Amino acid sequence: MAAARPGASSPLQISRLVKRYGEQTVVDDLSLSVAPGECFALLGPNGAGKTTTLRCALGLTLPDAGQITLCGEPVPERAREARMRVGVVPQFDSLDPDFTCAENLSVFGRYFGLDAATVRERTPALLAFAGLQNKAGARIQDLSGGMKRRLTLARALVNHPELLMLDEPSTGLDPQARHLIWRRLKQLVAEGTSVLLTTHFMDEAERLADRLAIMDNGRILATGSPREVIAAHIEPHVVEVYGDWADGMAGWARAHGERLSVRCELSGDTAFCYVNDASPLLEQLAQQHTLRYLHRPANLEDVFLKLTGRDLRD
Ligand code: ADP
Repeated sequence: MAAARPGASSPLQISRLVKRYGEQTVVDDLSLSVAPGECFALLGPNGAGKTTTLRCALGLTLPDAGQITLCGEPVPERAREARMRVGVVPQFDSLDPDFTCAENLSVFGRYFGLDAATVRERTPALLAFAGLQNKAGARIQDLSGGMKRRLTLARALVNHPELLMLDEPSTGLDPQARHLIWRRLKQLVAEGTSVLLTTHFMDEAERLADRLAIMDNGRILATGSPREVIAAHIEPHVVEVYGDWADGMAGWARAHGERLSVRCELSGDTAFCYVNDASPLLEQLAQQHTLRYLHRPANLEDVFLKLTGRDLRD
């Protein structure tokens, strides 16, 4: 977390937010606040309510209950004014295909009341930040997916926002493009910009977030720094045991895995054994010859799966 901008107050406070669609409550009494200069990650499986929460925070979706303050302004009442101080990277790129990269920045700048000269002055630095310094005149259809996402990030920074909100910023990107986006987000946070991002990638949250919340069914299930969330919700060690189900894996799990673990979860051909002390389990496994295993520290993904389950989400 960086030194916040001088005099900065919380860029986003959400208190007891409720949003219903018909019978379904998609955001259910949710409260969170982003501190100035921090990166906050909202984690959850598909359909958890992350995008709806962001849309309510921006005043794009009307909530059924709750209070929202964005950059000091009440939302939805003064959402338009608040949005002038926020940058948004939506889940799906919404660049104008008829314009070049530089033109996309200048069109977007106009929404923020920036005159053409100001945007022209900012454009080289924004394109360089996005690694697109040679692409000012390139058309959108000639950009790769990673380049489009980087341009969308540059576009979201045209108004020098206090808070940058990103909805699944690295979904669909290759590892090189993801790493570049991560480096840039870290740089922005180091410079004092607050960041709120949604993701279902645990490594993204673990690398970037000062604090995070895991949500499902519209509710926050755990919150804190990545370390705090891991320490509070899961045993420190995991032993993953792999083997053929028919060749004794399930039998081993029943006979030893469950006895020597705090929790032993079977998923496909793997038994996930969660333990405070891995030694008894490792001694037992040393006597097995058909099973392979991996001992590792528990991570955010373990917590996520414990809290939201291993069932597939569409
Ligand atoms: P996430 O971003 O975590 O994947 P969303 O906020 O997009 O979740 O969606 C949460 C739930 O709300 C889902 O079940 C989704 O189908 C539903 N939902 C979202 N937007 C609408 C809408 N405009 N009308 C009806 N249901 C919606």
